[in-house]
Amino acid sequence: MPTQTSALPPVGRFAPSPTGELHLGSLTTALASFCHIKSLGGKWLLRIEDTDTERCDRQFTEQILIDLEMLGLHWDGDAIYQSERLDIYNDYLSSSLYPLTYGCLCSRKNLEQYWAQNSTHKDVNSVQSTNQILPNRQRYPRRCVAANHDRQQHKLRIQLPDYQIGFNDGIQGMQWDNPQQTLGDMVVRRQDGMINYILAASLDDGLQNVTHIMRGLDILPMTTAQISIMQAAGLPTIDHWYHLPLINNADGQKLSKQNLAQPIDTTDPSQLIAEALTLLQQAVVDMDTPENMLKQAIAQWSNEPLQGKQQLNLPD
Ligand code: GLU
Repeated sequence: MPTQTSALPPVGRFAPSPTGELHLGSLTTALASFCHIKSLGGKWLLRIEDTDTERCDRQFTEQILIDLEMLGLHWDGDAIYQSERLDIYNDYLSSSLYPLTYGCLCSRKNLEQYWAQNSTHKDVNSVQSTNQILPNRQRYPRRCVAANHDRQQHKLRIQLPDYQIGFNDGIQGMQWDNPQQTLGDMVVRRQDGMINYILAASLDDGLQNVTHIMRGLDILPMTTAQISIMQAAGLPTIDHWYHLPLINNADGQKLSKQNLAQPIDTTDPSQLIAEALTLLQQAVVDMDTPENMLKQAIAQWSNEPLQGKQQLNLPD
C-alpha cells in the first residue's frame, strides 16, 4: 500500500535570552522571523532561553513580552521557558545522548596552562577553521574523553563529529563545517547543573517541530553542532536555515548587549516597525497600527535583499 506523507506545517520561532532588553538587532531578528514564517502561512513560537540563571533576569523577560505585544508580534500558543524544562534536557543526557557525553574535570585555568605549553601543537590548538565567521580558536584537547569521570559531579561535554556537515542557508548560501574542528567537544551541562544553550536549543527546536530557523549570523558557527546533536537525540532536524546579517551601528560595531546597544523604545511602535523594515531592506509599508503594518510587511516579505549579506548598517 502506498504510504502517504503529509508535509509538516511551517513552524518558526524567536528564542531570546533575557540577559537584557530587546535592541534593534534582536528586534530585527524577531520581525524578520515573524514576517517570513507568516508569509509561508506558518506558526511563530516564542521560547525564552533562560537557563543561565546568573545572566538572565525575569524583569528582562517581562519587558521582552511587553515589547513584542506592543509591536503586534503576537506568538502562537504559549511561550515556553527553558528554565522549566531542565528535566527534559537531563533525560536526553541520560538516554540517547549518554554515549556521546563524558564528565570533564578540566578547569579554564588548567586548559589555559595546557594551551600555553602546547602552543606549537597544531592538532590541539587553534586549527584553521573552514568557517568564515567564527574566528579560529582553541578547542578542548579531549583530555577527559576516556577517563570515565563522574558525570553528575563534573561538567559534561558532548563529542561532536569529526567530519564535514553541510546545510543550505537560505540567506548565506551553502555552508560546510566540521564541528569537531571548529568547536571541539562542547560543554552541554556545567558543573553547577546549568544546561548550556547549544543543548537546550537543539533539543527544543526538535521537540517543538520547528521547520524554519531564522536567527542572527553570530549563531551560524553553532549550526553544525546543533544538527549533530539533533540527529544524535533522534529528533527531526531543521529543513530550512536562514542566518540574518548582523546590524552594525554607525561606527561599524555590531549591535549587541555586550556593546551596550540601546534597548528599543516602544512608545511609537509603528515608527519602530517602519525603521526595522527599512533596515531589513523590505518594501515600504504604509504607516498604520502595528498589526496592519505587519500584515502588509508579511504580504511583501522577501529574503532577496538580504541574500549573501553579513551585515546591515544603521544610518548615521
Ligand atoms: N537565545 C539566543 C540569543 O538570544 C538565540 C538562539 C537562537 O535563535 O538559536 O542570542
